[in-house]
Amino acid sequence: MIPAIPAERRFALLNARVLAAHLPFAPVEFDRDGFALVDLMIDEGRFAAVSPAGAGPSADATLADLAGRIALPTFVDAHTHLDKAHIWGRAPNPTGEFMAALHAVAADRVANWSAADVARRMEFCLRTAYAHGASAIRTHIDSMGPQTLISWPVLQEARERWKGRIELQASPLFLIEMALDPRHMADVEAMLDAHGTGVLGAVTLMVPELKEGLAVLFDLAERKGYDLDFHVDESADPEARSLRVIAEMALKRRFPGKILVGHCCSLSLQTDDEFRRAIDASARAGLSVVSLPMCNLFLQDRRSGRTPRWRGVTALHELKDAGVNVMIASDNVRDPFYAYGDLDMLEVWREGVRVLHLDYPFARWADAVREAPAKAMGLKLDGVRVGAPADLIVTDAFDFTQLFARPQADRIVLRDGRRLAAPPDYAELDDRTRS
Ligand SMILES: [Zn+2]
Repeated sequence: MIPAIPAERRFALLNARVLAAHLPFAPVEFDRDGFALVDLMIDEGRFAAVSPAGAGPSADATLADLAGRIALPTFVDAHTHLDKAHIWGRAPNPTGEFMAALHAVAADRVANWSAADVARRMEFCLRTAYAHGASAIRTHIDSMGPQTLISWPVLQEARERWKGRIELQASPLFLIEMALDPRHMADVEAMLDAHGTGVLGAVTLMVPELKEGLAVLFDLAERKGYDLDFHVDESADPEARSLRVIAEMALKRRFPGKILVGHCCSLSLQTDDEFRRAIDASARAGLSVVSLPMCNLFLQDRRSGRTPRWRGVTALHELKDAGVNVMIASDNVRDPFYAYGDLDMLEVWREGVRVLHLDYPFARWADAVREAPAKAMGLKLDGVRVGAPADLIVTDAFDFTQLFARPQADRIVLRDGRRLAAPPDYAELDDRTRS
């Protein structure tokens, strides 16, 4: 059991097992997973000392001995849908398939997504993610028809409310062909001007309007200094090759901003030649790639009555080996695109390890839930160093296999040196209390 964390403003955590990469000094001793044991002094919500275990903080503080338990820094979740989450109760996906999800969400959006409805579900998500240990999140915001003007003010209010606890970014989400509709783009631009976070995006598939639509978004992003964020090739069709189209357009235009691309499922199913060309172009264009292992496993290769044959995830190892900035993220939560999930990046990491083989060695992939998404989002991270906020996720595990064997539901999340409350109760969601 994790020992009690002192409630005082000044206390010490002894023998915390922290990844060497997260420490401000190169430890002399570390274990085979890449962890080192450290003593941490925490004073008024900040790290006052970070030292090798035993070199020890002064004895004038209350002590808690973690006895070698793993303590992680906070998580960064680069791809979520806080506006869609938790609608499953009133909008289930009848077959679990992608097109059924699209239709179920569209019907629910038109019928139910008032500002109050979006705000209530978004707030539940943020409280959940915070309790699990997230400190930064990017969400996509369905931006089509009247919804565009409803959701973006809600996003900005949430962003203000959570400032200092969760850094919240947002990217608009619509089909790339909609970029050719000037009225639609006027709404999107107005909302990004008023409430945006400097990120523009869309869903790309191999529609005839792909290049023309992309050009509109690149033009706008260059004019405004935006970054770009695309849902790319979320499909088992090997002919879905918009990843390379995006990469080549970025190269040709010398696009100066950051580009994050999500899913890229079909990359795994392409011919060797196309596979290599797409990865090479992605690397040269400086793209970041986010894989969504839980949602891909749920939606891809699903046909009623037939056992799935592939995992649905992109070629994350090959992308990383080619020098692409790669990461994993939550994606959908309890909505028609994914029936489960809880905005818990430790769950995403655990499932990522299993679905994508992010092990051997585990530490090689630890940046996929923090540093890599932070880079894609343009965030500066504090880490475990003197003067930084005392933010830590303390677990009951002593090595990576223990960390991923259990859900770590008893983890203690410290923010500014204080223990956070548990995630909110499902009873707070209308779709539960009404049933
Ligand atoms: Zn998504």
